[in-house]
Amino acid sequence: FEMIDKNVVIIGSGYGGSVAALRLCEKNIPVTLLEMGLDWEKSGQKFSSMINPGHSAAWLKTKTIAPFFNLFSLEKYTGALDRLDFEHIKIWLGRGVGGGSLVNGGMAVTPKKEYFKEIFPNLDAEQFYSKYFPLANNELKSNVASEEFLKDCSFYKFNRVGEEEAKKAGFKTVRVPNVYDFKYMEKEYKEEVPRSALAGEVIYGNNHGKNSLDKTYLKKASATGKLEILELHQVNHITQNPDKSYSIDISVINTKGEEIQHKIINTKKLILSAGTMGSLELLLKSKAMKQLPMDDKIGKDWGNNGNFMTGRNWVKAFSGGTGFQQSTIPVGGIDHWEDKDRPFFVEIAPLPMGLNVATSLYLMVNKLKKYGEVNYDLATQKLQLNWDQSHTAHMKDNAKNFLRTMNKANGGTRAHLLFHNGFGADVCYHPLGGIVLGKATDNFGRLNGHKNLYVIDGSLIPGTIGVNPFVTITAIAEYCMEEIIEKDFA
Ligand code: FAD
Repeated sequence: FEMIDKNVVIIGSGYGGSVAALRLCEKNIPVTLLEMGLDWEKSGQKFSSMINPGHSAAWLKTKTIAPFFNLFSLEKYTGALDRLDFEHIKIWLGRGVGGGSLVNGGMAVTPKKEYFKEIFPNLDAEQFYSKYFPLANNELKSNVASEEFLKDCSFYKFNRVGEEEAKKAGFKTVRVPNVYDFKYMEKEYKEEVPRSALAGEVIYGNNHGKNSLDKTYLKKASATGKLEILELHQVNHITQNPDKSYSIDISVINTKGEEIQHKIINTKKLILSAGTMGSLELLLKSKAMKQLPMDDKIGKDWGNNGNFMTGRNWVKAFSGGTGFQQSTIPVGGIDHWEDKDRPFFVEIAPLPMGLNVATSLYLMVNKLKKYGEVNYDLATQKLQLNWDQSHTAHMKDNAKNFLRTMNKANGGTRAHLLFHNGFGADVCYHPLGGIVLGKATDNFGRLNGHKNLYVIDGSLIPGTIGVNPFVTITAIAEYCMEEIIEKDFA
């Protein structure tokens, strides 16, 4: 096997890792970025659509894993979408250069200031809302669809119906920004450019239109000439050496997931950005192997960001339903966050099945009442998650009330066709926390007890942020990296 020395290594190329890479490279600091997934752009392969799943559809699985679309057989391949299955919850993740940005819905939502203050009492909220959130939104190329387009576009009938019905039921609706380029989508609609959002592409990757991280932060970082991206490099564990440097144990894999090379990379400075579940796994595993000293705060304050999926069947079934064709990019939300008893935010989600299913799909984001905890079991070599129905009971209650109010005003039934009992308590797209900023790290992501080991990703957010999280992850990464570069890389 090979042994290599590097100056600065980042593990993981999602939001945290991409921000860290750009800000270091801009300062002329050479960076090596390790990513277990494929560099899709370099590979020249196309992403597959939801109704025609191919290589990008799943990470080393023989059947598709997208919610409601898991009927298709697949060839085992290092695809862009992964799912971790625990007893009471399934967690979907992105794999590949760009991390979650490759597969996600692109909703770029800035959290409510009051809630941000509640979750991060130690951070200067004024500074975040005047500096880091605008910076993140700008770099991510967040934009908003024109109302005129949404009013007429046949692919947004599901959203028009969703908003109309929400209003009729007394809820407040909001327009949600996205990183998908809506000007591109307007051209797609007119068939002037190849279709992506309007051709059922999203959760297995978008071939056009979406400003995923490979087109924003990582592109800029690569342009500096200082960034080395090593794809298909799966980190197994980390060791702290007596001289306080770190050794990273890596399996280089092929697209079937087989190890083709074993590598050790030594580095003085290590930034862990493997996403909430990835960073937790690496830290807890390395700790269990007694290779990395760590305090017992790692794994605490984990949450699903209150994710709860639900839906309604027989929506306008006799007056046209929710539309045959649906854009894969959400644009509408229901803001019910100010309700004292039952606060929630709802994403009006598309269901691009290619048929008029007369069904509305909703991804609810609730508050947390009880945190989960993550541990690592050395015997089975698996993460363990302390999370069950007791953590989601109040979310279910909110969903019940929401559906009841919607059905009473508009007709329709709870979506028994989509979920067992109509409720998807086990659907999680937003795992957060476990390595919380200011608790398991200092206020800038420096891991407790370490000088040169940083965590920069969703695990810094304590389990909940009230909206889809990537804008917050990006803003926090910007804030941490600014301080870290100034103080630790001078
Ligand atoms: P990630 O983006 O998860 O990146 C971590 C990277 O590290 C991955 O590329 C992974 O392959 C790599 N990695 C992990 N372990 C290792 C290892 N051992 N060795 C090497 N590499 C490793 N959020 C929103 O804000 N808006 C949305 O509309 C939205 N929609 C979503 C839809 C879906 C289907 C999913 C799955 C998520 C969605 N999210 C959305 C959530 C969002 O994508 C995540 O919160 C975000 O990607 C997390 O960023 P991160 O930097 O923490 O890590």
